[in-house]
Amino acid sequence: MSKDRIRLMPKEKRIDLFQSKYEYYRRFISGLITVSTISYFAFFFTDCGIFGRFASETVLARSILVVPYILFEIMNRKVKDYRIMVIAMYLMIHMIIWGTDWATYLLPDRQHAISGMIIMNLIFVGAGFAAPFHYSLIAHALLIVDILIANLFIHYDNLPMMLLFNVPCVIAICVMHYLMQEIFLEQYVTKCKLKDMAVLDQLTGVGNRNKFKEIVDPDTGEFLLRENEKASILLMDIDYFKNVNDKFGHEKGDIVLERMGRILQESVRSTDYVIRWGGEEFLIVMPGCEIEHAARVAELIRKKIEDSDCDACHVTISVGISSYRGGDCHIAIREADEALYQAKKNGRNQVVVHPFA
Ligand code: GH3
Ligand code: MG
Ligand code: MG
Repeated sequence: MSKDRIRLMPKEKRIDLFQSKYEYYRRFISGLITVSTISYFAFFFTDCGIFGRFASETVLARSILVVPYILFEIMNRKVKDYRIMVIAMYLMIHMIIWGTDWATYLLPDRQHAISGMIIMNLIFVGAGFAAPFHYSLIAHALLIVDILIANLFIHYDNLPMMLLFNVPCVIAICVMHYLMQEIFLEQYVTKCKLKDMAVLDQLTGVGNRNKFKEIVDPDTGEFLLRENEKASILLMDIDYFKNVNDKFGHEKGDIVLERMGRILQESVRSTDYVIRWGGEEFLIVMPGCEIEHAARVAELIRKKIEDSDCDACHVTISVGISSYRGGDCHIAIREADEALYQAKKNGRNQVVVHPFA
């Protein structure tokens, strides 16, 4: 069941799912709120029809919603977080309901109240496309509360009929929203798989060059880290890897690379980036990490690889370290490469920190 699948997701993933659902339907929601608000204004003419004259009594009730509507549109342009915008959207819809209640209170004839509710339910159908199911469930169930509270003032001609009409509508639409979320989940999972395939190296499971591009500004070459955040760069290369391929075969070479990817992932924090830089060369970007700590992590990785054996196939690595202090990251990578070259020159199986780091 999708509910369980969603509940079992890590919190970050769940937020990403709902954020992408909201973003996908963002323009639709903006259109829905605009059309609903305009319709709400236009119902002034219906008021005039019911009064049989210019309905001066409902002018204020019909026009006051322009204020929350403008606020909603401003928020819609500035706020991206679905948790705020979905609540703002439902607040706007409930304001339309409260405005309708107010106008209905002023009308001499309330027999059209149920027709108004058909339109409100239609608006809830649209809104549910962008909202997480639990948000739409609560927001839509509150329609019944709105009706009960409004009845204290309006005294609907037939409250039981009002409820007999709306309760099944709310249930049916909520079931529909649940199914819609399940369908969205399917395509979200597929999208995530495709995205992973695009940025992950299929052999080692670490990031590929596309992943690297994601964290670099294409114009300036700067790392897209938090403001003024420094980083340590580790560039590592397997020693005499050609010999592994020659002696044990290419397949064994692949197994060594696969294991290397696993060791690297296990040895760094989830906020670090591990990239397969070339054939048997790996780059690690460690945001907010001091050079001394980066050197300790590099030494730990070097030792783990030296100590691990893959069916009698032992390999070692050489590591070059540099420090990124802002600007074009390729300069820091070049320095790490120089340090790596030095480590190779010094006899391999060692960690060298660049003198500028
Ligand atoms: P050095 O210590 O100087 O780095 O020596 P090396 O033998 O590792 O030298 P070099 O970097 O030139 O060799 C890299 C080798 O890595 C050559 C290539 O056959 C091998 N290689 C690159 N990609 C793969 C891969 O995906 N699988 C396997 N099995 N081997 C690969
Ligand atoms: Mg190499
Ligand atoms: Mg090598």
